[in-house]
Amino acid sequence: MTDTPPFLKGSLFLISDFSALNLLSPILSALQHAGYTKPTPIQAQAIPHLQSGRDLLGIAQTGTGKTAAFALPILDRLGRRRLRSQAGHARVLILVPTRELASQIDASFAAYGARLGLSRALVFGGVNQHSQVRAMLRGVDVLVATPGRLLDLMGQGVVSLAYLEVFVLDEADRMLDMGFISDIRKVVSKLPPTRQTLLFSATMPKEISALAESLLRDPVRVEVAPTATTVERVEQKVYLVDKLHKVLLLKDVLQNQKVRQALIFTRTKHGADKLADALEASGVEVSAIHGNKSQSAREKALNGFRDGRLRVLVATDIAARGLDVPGVSHVINFDLPNEPESYVHRIGRTARAGREGMAISFCDVSERGFL
Ligand code: AMP
Repeated sequence: MTDTPPFLKGSLFLISDFSALNLLSPILSALQHAGYTKPTPIQAQAIPHLQSGRDLLGIAQTGTGKTAAFALPILDRLGRRRLRSQAGHARVLILVPTRELASQIDASFAAYGARLGLSRALVFGGVNQHSQVRAMLRGVDVLVATPGRLLDLMGQGVVSLAYLEVFVLDEADRMLDMGFISDIRKVVSKLPPTRQTLLFSATMPKEISALAESLLRDPVRVEVAPTATTVERVEQKVYLVDKLHKVLLLKDVLQNQKVRQALIFTRTKHGADKLADALEASGVEVSAIHGNKSQSAREKALNGFRDGRLRVLVATDIAARGLDVPGVSHVINFDLPNEPESYVHRIGRTARAGREGMAISFCDVSERGFL
């Protein structure tokens, strides 16, 4: 970390307890309720700076506790400085690449802020805009949104960011990969100049550094190395297998009682459906998620997986982005990803929040090159 204010220097190492963070007591009790005993490194490092109003560049991926690292100080601020909401306006905007991540972040704000009585709205594409428009009518404290629908609603005059106090850009590198950079710039052009800005990214490609440079004012830089810590807790195995035998091998792996819940990755949407059908035919409680499924089908599958009714979820990379299901004991790469980064993201879906996990990769002859 750079330029730590002198008064924080020693204290950073003492923050082993949430009570040292000077958060409102309803927030502390929500954390206790969630079973969090101490802040993760990114939380301990970021929260004091965010409380003092600094901008932040966070180099971290999911699994590090980064959502709470920004949600807690934001809730604290909103809870201390209550303002009557203004029609169509939001005080805080969290901009994210996918609807799943948006829903998860909204759920985190709901949980940590349960006793604060703040208002929230969730805006993303692929569903009717009606309820989103209704949620924005009176204005909200916290808006979590994906770029396309947000711009759409801004264009319709339903959402205004003119009084925004805090802007969070989450998973910026994913946004770049998904082609959202120009949408982000359009959103940014509507933000008021005085605001607090937070940018989180797992990696720092050139374009994201440039974006950070243009968005952040004298930011604190907090970098955590989750890939190492997550990956250390994940036992990794590779099975070399004939392409034709992958399904059989998978059924065999799933027979093992130790596989509490498995998230299985395929390369294509069609592959995901085909695999889910094959597993279902042999009696596995399974569903598939990918970009061609309707929002309600995805939600149904995710909810079923989250509450344990489904033991297996088959997904493509994009659909599983940001997915956070604590019960996942195994991540299985039915097809090997083409890039190492994808691999790290995938296996980060297990061993969540300090648990152990296992990652198994199936590799056929044609995939040896990716290994
Ligand atoms: P995130 O990196 O925000 O996706 O969070 C990863 C997981 O860690 C989520 O399941 C959180 O609920 C959990 N988590 C976040 N902060 C803490 C904490 N201080 N103690 C225990 N679990 C946490």
